[in-house]
Amino acid sequence: DSKDYDHEVKSVCAFCGVGCQISMKVKDGKIKYVEGINGPANEGRLCVKGRFGYDYIHHQHRLTKPLIRREDAPAKGLNVNPDNWQDFFREASWDEALDVAAGGLKGRGREVAGFGSAKCTNEEAYLFQKFIRQGFGHNNVDHCTRLCHASSVAALIENVGSGAVTAGFNDIKDADVAIVIGANPVENHPVAATYFKQFTKRGGKLIVMDPRGVGLRRFATHMLQFKPGADVSMLNAIMHVIVEEGLYDQQYIEAFTENWEAEKEHLAQFAPEKMEELCGIPAETLRAVARDFATAKAGMIFWGMGISQHIHGTDNSRCLISLALMCGHVGRPGTGLHPLRGQNNVQGASDAGLIPMFLPDYQSVTDDGVRSAFTDVWETGDFSNEKGLTVTEIMDAVHDGAIKAMYVLGENPAMSDPDVEHARDALAKLDHLVVQDIFITETANYADVILPASALYEKSGTVSNTNRTVQMLRPAVPPPGEAREDWWIEVELAKRCGLPWTYTHPSEVFAEMAVNMRSLDNITWERLENEAVTYPSLSPEDPGQSVVFGDAFPRPEGRARFTPASVIPPDDLPDADFPMVLTTGRQLEHWHTGSMTRRATVLDAVEPEANCSLHPSTLRQLGVEPGGMVRITTKRGSIEIMARADRAIAPDMVFVPFAYVEAAANILTNPAVDPYGKIPEFKYSAVRVEAA
Ligand code: SF4
Repeated sequence: DSKDYDHEVKSVCAFCGVGCQISMKVKDGKIKYVEGINGPANEGRLCVKGRFGYDYIHHQHRLTKPLIRREDAPAKGLNVNPDNWQDFFREASWDEALDVAAGGLKGRGREVAGFGSAKCTNEEAYLFQKFIRQGFGHNNVDHCTRLCHASSVAALIENVGSGAVTAGFNDIKDADVAIVIGANPVENHPVAATYFKQFTKRGGKLIVMDPRGVGLRRFATHMLQFKPGADVSMLNAIMHVIVEEGLYDQQYIEAFTENWEAEKEHLAQFAPEKMEELCGIPAETLRAVARDFATAKAGMIFWGMGISQHIHGTDNSRCLISLALMCGHVGRPGTGLHPLRGQNNVQGASDAGLIPMFLPDYQSVTDDGVRSAFTDVWETGDFSNEKGLTVTEIMDAVHDGAIKAMYVLGENPAMSDPDVEHARDALAKLDHLVVQDIFITETANYADVILPASALYEKSGTVSNTNRTVQMLRPAVPPPGEAREDWWIEVELAKRCGLPWTYTHPSEVFAEMAVNMRSLDNITWERLENEAVTYPSLSPEDPGQSVVFGDAFPRPEGRARFTPASVIPPDDLPDADFPMVLTTGRQLEHWHTGSMTRRATVLDAVEPEANCSLHPSTLRQLGVEPGGMVRITTKRGSIEIMARADRAIAPDMVFVPFAYVEAAANILTNPAVDPYGKIPEFKYSAVRVEAA
């Protein structure tokens, strides 16, 4: 009813990488409600987060003024009560806060590191990496992609030549068969999941593979609930069958790939009959899956953090890439490789160069020509040709005394890093910490200066979803009090650090990005004001190419590569003291570290309490009723948490969402990382569960 609101503003949902378009109905300076509109990714649909998750922006805990730590404040890291922060911080003017923030960073060169955010716009991500590179001369800048799909991107760049998806999730409409592995779209990409369900209703064969019996299992032709950590043995066994039974696409392999003979030879040792015990899936099922995928006319593969967050995460993705390539399932309608992106703008923030080894568009920092193309545009001197430190390496460098000052924009490493006490100790050791956020997060507990920023519903800018579709954000309401858009804060901080920045609007930043980013060819700010555009866009009229690499791959001689993957066991294997396996992730109602959704009225009402999932038989053995408390312990720490009965989880596993500060999952997790993507093994830790 149009009488319900004063005006509406069209923008993009602030949560997951699906990138649903929304209409925000505004009345009396507040968002009254949100509806889905006809965006290319959602066609009017929204999930519970998109529809009801917005009102955290009006929460009483919003930061409305810059804050500076008081000289007589208690020790850094103590939990700051958001209703009583005056014991820790004092209010300051923007001038004073920016001067203090810049004063602790300026001139410190390699002692400074930066964590940007996938919750920021493309322009803000670009400015953040430029700030570190131009301002401090090195590449110690990263963001949460390191904890998300860094291993997938490493494998895709290595073997396909591009870190983005080769087809959109809604291209599943043209597929006959689709694999969803290590992902739980029903909870984490709910609108994408509706396309997957529709696909099965039209007769498409869905193959779901996951150690948890995720929600899509009810729609699956095959549900492979394999043993955690056994991804490579299972995928290699499936590929073994395709080779053994001659089901591969010889013509495609010869025309578009390299290193096939080495892959074929490597796969000989992975007969399903040998692998079935290791991966917990009968050989006949592995053979049936291989036949269904290889003989389909068009097949797609989707994956999530269950693939990427392992010390063998890059190998997991290499297997998926090889599986698609050997069947010729890339580059045609209904085929493709699609790592489902987690955050609203993790694709765009990565594209914009918020990565320690890559400048925008994944151009290597080690390439002299690439760096000079950027320094020409930035009208600045050269910066380091060494790859910078990643998120977890930066925390190690703080402990080693090499990093002494940090600028954290919109990230919450005091909740999101593995073995989080290690990260919290590092934050406490810093000489100087600048946190830019919308709430006093757990990371802001350690800050010297807190700069009050904007939620995505309050800002202008562009974001890029999991499908490579670039869309325009529009502000429904202004930021509260003296809070400012993040790009404005970045510019003012940069000026005080001596950089000659003169930006007055994100559109100017976008224009600068487009100079050295070929992915933005034919995409302009003006165009995005009227339409969403998927890159690559081949002309000013082309809405973009959803399916890519039909003719050639962006690799030498245009060929994709097979990279064989061997079985590497998880780092922290169960033993007598820690006999079960912990896996962590998100749940439908809560987003990442919970700072936003736990302040969203409806979402918090639906899911107010920290909870874990255990099989009913495990609960019975423990003597715990569903809803009772359990203690979960790893070599790194212990939490107490309410237990739910969930038949979908294996009896020797426990699942803990990482959104709850009172039972922080990352107190438990293992910081061991994948050697290529440097992503921690969030999906596997040896654990003991007891009645609390
Ligand atoms: Fe938002 Fe993702 Fe839900 Fe869409 S599916 S409404 S983008 S959280």
